[in-house]
Amino acid sequence: MSVDATQPYDDGNIFARLLRGEIPSRRVYEDEHVVVFHDIAPWAPTHLLAVPRGRYVSWDDFSANASDAEIAAFTRAIGKVARDAGLVETGYRLIANAGRDSHQEVPHLHVHIMAGRPLGPMLV
Ligand code: C5P
Repeated sequence: MSVDATQPYDDGNIFARLLRGEIPSRRVYEDEHVVVFHDIAPWAPTHLLAVPRGRYVSWDDFSANASDAEIAAFTRAIGKVARDAGLVETGYRLIANAGRDSHQEVPHLHVHIMAGRPLGPMLV
């Protein structure tokens, strides 16, 4: 079931707990604004999740309410992780599910970074 992307931020959500270190994650990158870690159930040989440290439910929330510094850091972190992992050569896909029809499951903004096999025209 998808989360309601307009709901208030829930500090008990799984990525909030992960960011606080209450549950483990395999982190590949972190800085003041961003953490990137391996998805626990990968859909591709490389499947990472980039999350802002800030309390943003969805892309809507983040794009409207995050500071320019947070948005810049998030964008640059995703690019850096992709470059450092050698994904520029192979290609990669970014996905951010947001709201009812998207099947967003975790109510903390996350961008999927997927690569390592031909991904086809679209994921379903
Ligand atoms: O975009 P959506 O909200 O559906 O994606 C949530 C993602 O979070 C899933 O790919 C799931 O495997 C991942 N996840 C995770 N670690 C958890 C819980 C969920 O990597 N502890």
